[in-house]
Amino acid sequence: MNLQTARIDGEDVATDASTTLRAPYDGRELAEVAACTAEHVDRAVQASLAALRDPLPTWRRAEILDRAAERLAESDLAEECARTIALEAAKPINTARTEVTRCVSTFRFAAAACRTLTGEVLPLDASAAGEGRLGLTIRVPVGVIGAITPFNFPLNLVAHKLAPAIAAGCPVVLKPAQQTPLTGLRLARLLLDECGLPPAWLHVVPGSGSETGAALVDHDDVAMITFTGSPEVGWGIRGAAPRKHVSLELGNNAPVIIQPDGDVEAAAKKIAAAGNSHAGQSCISVQRVLVHEDVEEAFTRQLVAAVEALVVGDPLEEDTQVSALIDAGARDRVSDWVREATDGGASVATGGDVRDGILSPTVLTDVRGDMRVCREEVFGPVLAVQSYASLEEAFELANDTRYGLHAGIYTSDLETARRAVQHLSFGGVIVNDVPTWRADQMPYGGERDSGNTREGPFHSVLEMTTIRSAVFS
Ligand code: NAD
Repeated sequence: MNLQTARIDGEDVATDASTTLRAPYDGRELAEVAACTAEHVDRAVQASLAALRDPLPTWRRAEILDRAAERLAESDLAEECARTIALEAAKPINTARTEVTRCVSTFRFAAAACRTLTGEVLPLDASAAGEGRLGLTIRVPVGVIGAITPFNFPLNLVAHKLAPAIAAGCPVVLKPAQQTPLTGLRLARLLLDECGLPPAWLHVVPGSGSETGAALVDHDDVAMITFTGSPEVGWGIRGAAPRKHVSLELGNNAPVIIQPDGDVEAAAKKIAAAGNSHAGQSCISVQRVLVHEDVEEAFTRQLVAAVEALVVGDPLEEDTQVSALIDAGARDRVSDWVREATDGGASVATGGDVRDGILSPTVLTDVRGDMRVCREEVFGPVLAVQSYASLEEAFELANDTRYGLHAGIYTSDLETARRAVQHLSFGGVIVNDVPTWRADQMPYGGERDSGNTREGPFHSVLEMTTIRSAVFS
């Protein structure tokens, strides 16, 4: 059996308890994974505090990040990581390869952020009290960072925590998702064993959210929690750690608007693919499809055809585009929501059934805003199509949500696009593409229940550092 230990202060640590990790697609055993207690977390935090007393210079941190990017771009490691993601997350292998490519980019931009992080000169003599003095600011690390990550991007969302922490000069303790800890553990080994990151700067403590994650949140010497996951857990952490800096990247139920002057055919193809990428388990997975009544019939026909053409099956097969949800509980929950919608008057245009344990990609029409498939985050392969009569109504429907991460609009009219950017109340508005679009250097994050921060190496480094003013008298 493949035993996956914790990694604390450079040591592989076997714990008393462990959990058996199985592949979501076929249930095969993948590994026996350590389950860390509060004591393990404390050891990792104490080692991190020691690291802070002996800072790594900027040039060394930037070199470590560059090396990680270079190594991850090499085909042997890239393929190993993609296969691990495919196995533990049931993410189709080609989608997993894209995640690896994005991760290379995350490390490259973190290296750039590390090299260019700077302060400002303060115009102290602009007030009489400051005359004769020189002032400037530098940015200093916030301290020990606790990073808690979700199951759906086991490599790149871990990288979005570790890479800026290294760039900012912060030691970091990672608690990866219990469903997908293997890729994060591999990334930590890469940084520590191949890229020159000294042992005290990164620790991985696998385990449950309620025990290991909570111990990290509760630890007095952790200065900042950077969390990506569900709103329920995220806002709970915010409440439990009022004195810590807590950055939250949470859920969404992304809307896209199709105007009659938009490219309806391109929209149908893109939405079919993006709404079902990793079976809809992305925080910016397009979910609510708002289509103008003049093009509703043509659009829906093309959407259904594109969804029905998706290849469903084994995540390791080259052709597969959609595979299993992360576990049977998730599949049953999404199926229940689809049933609840049809009981309430929605129609299944395609999908809705379970074949070989996999929920088929589903398109619902005649939905209403009060159904859970519209109101909540589905996090499954379901697209809910609703029609509208005017642009104002489309904006109103799109904004009628407690979430606010990304929205999209298809239009060929510049003024409509401008109005969308102005009126759609989301962290990102994507014009002429799906709201699922993201580049890793963007400031990425949401409003309302979707979070309280912007992630992306340049912005995360600012979050992970604090301003110190220096005055020379
Ligand atoms: P989750 O909230 O169940 O778990 C996320 C992490 O939190 C896991 O590591 C888990 O073990 C840990 N955790 C759980 N309870 C905890 C507690 N009490 N204290 C500390 N840690 C705890 O989320 P998930 O199911 O893994 O991921 C899906 C969610 O993540 C969706 O809502 C999705 O939209 C969101 N997400 C958001 C983004 C973004 O960037 N905004 C990206 C990916 C996923």
